[in-house]
Amino acid sequence: MKQNMKIRDIRATTVTVPLEAPLRHANGCHWGRFVRTVVEVETDNGIVGLGEMGGGGESAEAVFRAMKSYLVGHDPARIEEMRFLIANPTASLYNNRTQILAALEFACLDILGQAWGVPVSEILGGRLRDRVPFAAYCFFRYPDPATGTGEVRTIDQVLENARALKQRFGFTSHKMKAGVFPQDYELEAYRALAAEFPGDSYRFDPNAVWSTEQAIRFGQAIEGLRNDYLEDPVYGLNGMRRTREMVRVPLATNTVVVNFEQLAANVLDTAVDVILLDTTFWGGIRACVKAAAVCETFQLGVAVHSSGELGIQLATMLHLGAVIPNLSFAADAHYHHLTDDVIQGGLMRYENGRIRVPDQPGLGVKLDREKLREYSELYKRLGGYPYDRDPGRPGWTPIVPNDRWADPKDDRPVSIPH
Ligand SMILES: [Mg+2]
Repeated sequence: MKQNMKIRDIRATTVTVPLEAPLRHANGCHWGRFVRTVVEVETDNGIVGLGEMGGGGESAEAVFRAMKSYLVGHDPARIEEMRFLIANPTASLYNNRTQILAALEFACLDILGQAWGVPVSEILGGRLRDRVPFAAYCFFRYPDPATGTGEVRTIDQVLENARALKQRFGFTSHKMKAGVFPQDYELEAYRALAAEFPGDSYRFDPNAVWSTEQAIRFGQAIEGLRNDYLEDPVYGLNGMRRTREMVRVPLATNTVVVNFEQLAANVLDTAVDVILLDTTFWGGIRACVKAAAVCETFQLGVAVHSSGELGIQLATMLHLGAVIPNLSFAADAHYHHLTDDVIQGGLMRYENGRIRVPDQPGLGVKLDREKLREYSELYKRLGGYPYDRDPGRPGWTPIVPNDRWADPKDDRPVSIPH
């Protein structure tokens, strides 16, 4: 008989954890660090469940404090009811709380797993795999502002970085994050990367900054490579659909199919082949399991998207990856760019490109209080950062389609607080 529990308190702590180097992307940059809000939900019998949320470089502490008026006294087992309590679809028109719901769902599942003595994957139907495969996440990078090392800008640097990642973590799938430099330069870089490890597979993501015609041109140019998929070459289901008519490479998205309405639209008139499920964007692990079932029914591909995670969210991705039968591809994670984590035991380890799904009850991760304090202080010292600004191009705006590319020859030093 399960214990009856009530939520007694919700606490949130913003942390900043350093990355090896600033990560450049099509809409700006991760400025050498991730800012994440760690959420603790405590029950009346003293169980603490963990959640995590991003927020584009900003703290989300205040909104979790505000959720106390909704959730104190709520039974953490009533997760489906919590969805309507704080993210009713009509009420959400006024205050979109999908990502907040996700962090609270993680915490409630963590509580239930601890109360019932089972890992979250057992609550979600039971695991089909004990390890989840991950892809290398190859970014263009600015040099680390502290050491001046770690730059990835030239094609030689792209290859050197990919070789180092493969050697260190054992990846056999490699994702190139792009949309930073002119298309021809990035095509040359991707071709060089795809020639580097014969037998491995590759994926390319310019974050939807091309025109449809540019997407078609690039897609046709990479048709002969060992592509997993081409991810978000253009913004919008119609642009994706037109690209798909002309390109013989599967298209993937984490951008234009991120809820059930959009998934339905994509089933009725297919524009995307592979749906990248994000436990935060979709509003929780359970929403992703439901979406994976729809994808299974309509035989769409599935992979796991990364919106920049510490160990708590990584655990949600591992439990998701463990329980869905149709995980067609290696998952994405920014995780290997982190220098540290806030969970006990430090960074989770990769073995041959895979990470073991935690076996302990709940999410299977616990906070390292000393690290939490250390990185909370780092957040207080450095503050947030604008994820959608490029520190190397202060006057730049990321329009769509973009025609304001960074210059791959530009090696001027960039000033980034650290
Ligand atoms: Mg993407």
